[in-house]
Amino acid sequence: MVTHSAPHRPERTCVGCHQVAPRDQLVRLVRESAPGGVIPRVLPDPTGSAMGRGAWLHPEASCLELAVKRGGFARSFRGGVDTGHLVQDLENSDFTRTWNR
Ligand SMILES: [Zn+2]
Repeated sequence: MVTHSAPHRPERTCVGCHQVAPRDQLVRLVRESAPGGVIPRVLPDPTGSAMGRGAWLHPEASCLELAVKRGGFARSFRGGVDTGHLVQDLENSDFTRTWNR
């Protein structure tokens, strides 16, 4: 008995490089809920199930850079977000260590 049917693997589009990838190769980012007038930060969602709008990203410096440069986060989250700390996390290697499990 031979079957070619692949198991169902949900796919998402990376907000940085815009390539479609299985969601287990991407990390999910969500926008924190911030009071009015405060620019919300983008936070990792390691469980992938936090409420609200999410963005998917390869856990790679190049994709984060592209997402920030091209305004991919602002588009995904329908507004300005603070991504400065993400770049810092990445420089501290926390970014990939946290998510590249
Ligand atoms: Zn990417």
